Amino acid sequence: MNLQRLADKLRITPERLQSLQETVIRESSWPEPRLLRFDKTASGIEAGTAIFDNGDIIFGYPKIRRALMLRPALKKHFSDWVTVEEKMNGHNVRVTSVDGDVIAITRGGFICPYSTEVARRLISEEVFLDNPKLVLCGEMVGPENPYVPKDIYPTESMDFYLFDLAQKNCRETLGPRRTHQLAEEYGIRATRLFGEFPVDSAYPAIVEIIKDLGKRGREGVVIKDSENLVSPIKYTCSESNCRDLEAAFQYYSDYALDFFVSRAVREGFQSVEWQEDEEEQQKRAQRIGQSILLPLAETVKKKMDGEPITQQVQIRVKSLQTAREFEYHLRRSGIRTIFDQPEPDDDGYLVRITKLVMSTNDKTQALIDGEMW
Ligand code: ATP
Ligand code: MG
Repeated sequence: MNLQRLADKLRITPERLQSLQETVIRESSWPEPRLLRFDKTASGIEAGTAIFDNGDIIFGYPKIRRALMLRPALKKHFSDWVTVEEKMNGHNVRVTSVDGDVIAITRGGFICPYSTEVARRLISEEVFLDNPKLVLCGEMVGPENPYVPKDIYPTESMDFYLFDLAQKNCRETLGPRRTHQLAEEYGIRATRLFGEFPVDSAYPAIVEIIKDLGKRGREGVVIKDSENLVSPIKYTCSESNCRDLEAAFQYYSDYALDFFVSRAVREGFQSVEWQEDEEEQQKRAQRIGQSILLPLAETVKKKMDGEPITQQVQIRVKSLQTAREFEYHLRRSGIRTIFDQPEPDDDGYLVRITKLVMSTNDKTQALIDGEMW
């Protein structure tokens, strides 16, 4: 596509586009179809925006801001009715059809071969035949999600939950009403809808929902403007924050500092907003402490026993080609892995994957050997 036309579609000047091409826009020629992707957010264009050779632009999914003190955040952010949905814990994909092929695009703007195979299995092509400009925004979740494995959902493999819709070449998403309507119409599984609440009375209802989700190991909620007039916000369960901490402290040197700090800070705000008494605070403190200390101690012991620190995940694929492509996809994303021989099962293959966590391995070994922090 020529520079002027693409710049018009992105609503920026051709000069600006040219300078972005030198800085944040990268080419990805594999797997097909070829695309240009935004590596970072720039000029109001979200990271992960993908531009295909045929001119289709799939804008990146917008960031969702987080409430720490929920009651005032609701009041400040929304004005009328809010729709409360479950926040699914997996990875974000945008599923669409380009030149007649259904593909799943990751947050970073890559086509993921594994997510694509799962999307093709779960979503009937009919939805794209009827709506060729449609982009389904959803979360891939389950124990066989190799990025975020979670066994808290009713699936043994990896499932797709729709949470929003977009149109090609449009930045805006269509919001909860149209999403749930379309999900119903085409039999696509959507995120759980807890209901619509007037903003003034939503707080106690959401706290109840969060407490219940927390007990069930689920992540939290996304709160949306029922009329889709302002952007959604997110709010999560303490148990889920702690499980994140637990996973991250196991691989403490491979996570950014902010991952730990932001989760610890959330706990402080929630404890105060929920007016916890001493006993409840002690319980929370114990939960946080355990999720820090136990995985750390485990990692140190493991390394002292001469074992490598790794993460085991698995995928289930219909074709060996998908497994091979996924291996390549992880490698190009900078993730180092060892793929086991695929094990044939009912209707495809199970592939066990060992993810190497290099920094934690090296750092822990060095510290055990007496190096300084
Ligand atoms: P962000 O997307 O806010 O930049 P992040 O990438 O760290 O942050 P999360 O903290 O998981 O992601 O929160 C936002 C993400 O939650 C969305 O990008 C989406 O993938 C996921 N999500 C899960 N359930 C929903 C839902 N019901 N509505 C909207 N997003 C949801
Ligand atoms: Mg998430």
